[in-house]
Amino acid sequence: MQTQVGIIGAGPAGLLLSQMLHLRGIESVIIESRSRDAIEATIRAGVLEQSTVDLMVEIGAGERLKREGFVHHGIELRFGGRGHRINLHDLANGRTITVYAQHEVLKDLIALRLRTGGVIHFEAKADAVEDVATGAPQIRFTTSNGQKQLLRCDFVAGCDGSYGIGRSAIPEGSVRHDYFRIYPFGWFGILAKAPPSSDELIYAHHDRGFALVSTRSPDVQRMYFQCDPNDSVDNWPDERIWEELQTRVEGDKFRLKTGPIFQKGIIPLRSFVCEPMQHGRLFLAGDAAHSVPPTGAKGLNLAAADVHVLARALSSFYATGSTDLLADYSRMALRRVWRAQHFSWWMTSMLHRFHDAAEFDLKRQLAELDLVTSSRAAATTVAENYVGLPLT
Ligand SMILES: Cc1cc2nc3c(=O)[nH]c(=O)nc-3n(C[C@H](O)[C@H](O)[C@H](O)COP(=O)(O)OP(=O)(O)OC[C@H]3O[C@@H](n4cnc5c(N)ncnc54)[C@H](O)[C@@H]3O)c2cc1C
Repeated sequence: MQTQVGIIGAGPAGLLLSQMLHLRGIESVIIESRSRDAIEATIRAGVLEQSTVDLMVEIGAGERLKREGFVHHGIELRFGGRGHRINLHDLANGRTITVYAQHEVLKDLIALRLRTGGVIHFEAKADAVEDVATGAPQIRFTTSNGQKQLLRCDFVAGCDGSYGIGRSAIPEGSVRHDYFRIYPFGWFGILAKAPPSSDELIYAHHDRGFALVSTRSPDVQRMYFQCDPNDSVDNWPDERIWEELQTRVEGDKFRLKTGPIFQKGIIPLRSFVCEPMQHGRLFLAGDAAHSVPPTGAKGLNLAAADVHVLARALSSFYATGSTDLLADYSRMALRRVWRAQHFSWWMTSMLHRFHDAAEFDLKRQLAELDLVTSSRAAATTVAENYVGLPLT
């Protein structure tokens, strides 16, 4: 099997890249270990930056997103028993965010890719990426019926998420350096059949820890609260979850709208970056190269920004034979990645309770929240970063 760009992973990074390459006349093949059904049913991110929405529209995947996505002009920071609105639209020059679930993005991208002749091998697991330092790299993979296959390509894009194999093809130590921060807490996330509790997302700081009131659709709500990463969902019957959430968003007579909870899970929080994001003819994009705590809602958006840079570099190579943009990929992508790392870490540090924090730290957090909700300059920093930097 042969193609120009072999892509591992049909997540947001792999699918967006494949479609962008297609529009530039570049052929690609996607190898994806999960089934189409599993991908389309996994609930993850939900906040799209303005530039991610613009990119979806530009590549022809924006029709349903424009119709069904919810444009939010602000977010609420809630602390000391009161809500404080950050007006994203006003502070970030008319830019906004759109709430549209990641699995809906993936449904749209998969349908579009297949409709436009894309090749996606579902339930095919990449086992190894080889010869990336030569002009002819290859991906070894195993199909759902156990057949061993080889995909020869000009370039490999490792879009295979946090636990993929792409990253391991960059020699650790001599070439690759991994930068980590593990947080001493996780997020307990629920999906509930209920109407929205608020028109906009609520980020709450409370003595008992952080909480986030988010939404996925008019009937499905996504909420999180900070928890011990080693806790078990079995310790949390529905009633206890609603009590905890309600406590953390208390004040202003605000009441959460509750309903049956149909999914519960605990996610650990970490910050991670691998440098460089390329080696020879292998290029990493999205979670394969970095992850952020979800507090800044940046993961999916960073994946989109990476492949925007990568698609342009590949396109320049095929159009002119120049490798200049390809050689610059990692530097270009990492600048945005580290900005997003900083923002995600900062939001996390400002809003969560750390178990070893002194009373001083709590007072300092409240002063910081006071600053970002009362100073236009500080609120602008939140707004500009939250809606996302323009694509470069
Ligand atoms: C609970 C949660 C909430 C989140 N909330 C937000 C949010 O609000 N906003 C936001 O922007 N981001 C959010 N994120 C992060 C976001 O979901 C990820 O950053 C995003 O999915 C990254 O896309 P990706 O394409 O890089 O990787 P992935 O989506 O992980 O896709 C990688 C794909 O590669 C496949 N794969 C892996 N290994 C192999 C292999 N060996 N062979 C073949 N295929 C393989 C996987 O099956 C997967 O489909 C959240 C994440 C979680 C877990």
